[in-house]
Amino acid sequence: MPEYSIGSTSGRGDVFKDKDKPASMRESNITAAKAVADSVRTSLGPKGMDKMIQSGNGDVTITNDGATILNQMKVLHPAAKMLVELSKAQDIEAGDGTTSVVVIAGSLLDAASNLLAKGIHPMQISESFQSAALKSCEILQGISQPVDLSNKEALMKSAITSLNSKVVSQYSSLLAPIAVDAVMKVIDPAVATNVDLNDVKIIQQLGGTIEDTELVDGLVFSKRSAGSGGPSKVEKAKIGLIQFCLSPPKTDMDNQVVVSDYSQMDRVLREERAYLLNLVKQIKKAGCNVLLIQKSILRDALSDLALHFLNKMKIMVIKDIERDDVEFVCKSINCKPIASIDHFLPENLASAELVEEVVVGTSKVVKVTGAANPGKTVSVLVRGTSKLVLDEAERSIHDALCVIRCLVKERALIAGGGAPEIEVACRLMEYSRTLTGVEAYCFRAFAEAMEVIPSTLAENAGLNPIAVVTELRNRHVQGEKAAGINVRKGAITNILDENVVQPLLVSTSAIQLAAETVQSMLKIDDIVISMR
Ligand code: ADP
Ligand code: MG
Repeated sequence: MPEYSIGSTSGRGDVFKDKDKPASMRESNITAAKAVADSVRTSLGPKGMDKMIQSGNGDVTITNDGATILNQMKVLHPAAKMLVELSKAQDIEAGDGTTSVVVIAGSLLDAASNLLAKGIHPMQISESFQSAALKSCEILQGISQPVDLSNKEALMKSAITSLNSKVVSQYSSLLAPIAVDAVMKVIDPAVATNVDLNDVKIIQQLGGTIEDTELVDGLVFSKRSAGSGGPSKVEKAKIGLIQFCLSPPKTDMDNQVVVSDYSQMDRVLREERAYLLNLVKQIKKAGCNVLLIQKSILRDALSDLALHFLNKMKIMVIKDIERDDVEFVCKSINCKPIASIDHFLPENLASAELVEEVVVGTSKVVKVTGAANPGKTVSVLVRGTSKLVLDEAERSIHDALCVIRCLVKERALIAGGGAPEIEVACRLMEYSRTLTGVEAYCFRAFAEAMEVIPSTLAENAGLNPIAVVTELRNRHVQGEKAAGINVRKGAITNILDENVVQPLLVSTSAIQLAAETVQSMLKIDDIVISMR
């Protein structure tokens, strides 16, 4: 333990005796965070590798998504946790670029640690990095191209770029249109400034291949209808969503009823029957022929007897609707959740052309199509041969949706394949010549740090990173702003010809968030253990 002597016995010079500690603390934080960044580096880009993550209970995840990898990784060092948070922040802000942001942060930390070793004060470094990040965003804005939401081809290209670096990349030409159509259905392109991705529901269904993935304009329940005697197809459906239970009532308190003879037993059963029959009759009276029942945690939401009555009356039943899904269901078909039987009135029901149970893969799902007043929602039915594939497909579609969302938020595109990062590096280098002193030094270090993206892309694609980065730099200085790494040909070409484009927001947010994290990490000079 260091000794801090504040007493009067020692001289004034003793007060900050332990001057080395903040420096070594910073060093250890940077080392820990860099280790995390290095671990995801190999996953960057279309030729990046995937990670197999094993959880404590034996579950396995295969993924290429930076946010998912870091989220599941057991990280102990508090400074390393900052990178996990960084990746999460990028996931929320942009949805894509979650690996890039961590790789950039790692490289910036590396640069910072070199500057610290030269004796530059951490505050000076962090301030210069911050202004360099701002400058980078300006540069990126300068090279971006505006995109119109009616330009479906451009949206498709950026979705394909995002999907290309995923495990499911061979299906990117199929999944990209689904993502674009899904987002376009839930927004009004003329006025939208954001997309609520809760309006796009992704439903996994085992069986078939990813090629069978489809966009359903309507509602899909990933379960079959309850009971065996009920209808499996209802035309001109009247749909009611109930939140109360169709089962014998229970008392609020725990109590016991002792039944001592048969006649009493008979009465209990008769009462129960009459009670349930009454409920079901009221439902039928309102004209309902498809009943959705919210899951209940207190008791059975639907007793067998009630189900039997419903089936008899030709009412299709879909039970166990999750509480979280109720809002989506209501928005999709425009109905109101009904909380008690007294409110089960015709005006609270929704109409749809067709509610049908269909066989999909190994099991059945229920599709609701042709709603009379459809809301702006859409469902994507993802198919795959195993749970691992399905999960990764869902994550990849989510990334593609996020890319389109970025374009709705900020309607500009830039080239991919390392081109923007190299352009930023070259322009910052140029700019640093107008600066003087320590700031110029820091700007130059920042510029060099940005080259990590093209060099990693090259490395992962099996190319020589030094040769590639040197040539890229050369071409960009000569004014070829779109020269990037063409991983398919293993050469440097105009990356716009390859249709590799990404939203501006993904890159600007990655640079800004990474610089912010590095800034806050440089400001830390000690780790204190809390008492709690
Ligand atoms: P992230 O999680 O950061 O999105 P990815 O694995 O998706 O990581 O890789 C994104 C990087 O790969 C971006 O820098 C992008 O420009 C680049 N990239 C994507 N597709 C291609 C391609 N076909 N050719 C070259 N680079 C590509
Ligand atoms: Mg990506």
